[in-house]
Amino acid sequence: MTTITAPRPRKSHRPAPCPVTGKLRYRERKDAGLALRDAKYLRSALAVSGIETSWTIVRAYKCEACSGWHTTSRPALPTFTN
Ligand SMILES: [Zn+2]
Repeated sequence: MTTITAPRPRKSHRPAPCPVTGKLRYRERKDAGLALRDAKYLRSALAVSGIETSWTIVRAYKCEACSGWHTTSRPALPTFTN
């Protein structure tokens, strides 16, 4: 006797993580930008209550390995022009 189970729902809205960095991968820069905005909003909202969050992402960058976008808590390196 064969039992057929219902297929598990696919989480197609969440892309696979980067195979190199293991970070959450955003397809487009604007998606990473939305995450930055959410994190910024959450930090300020929690700060009012005196609560700190570990969600400290500050910028997005393009990943050479997966051609997607990642977020990082490291500030951008200073650029020197001379
Ligand atoms: Zn990547």
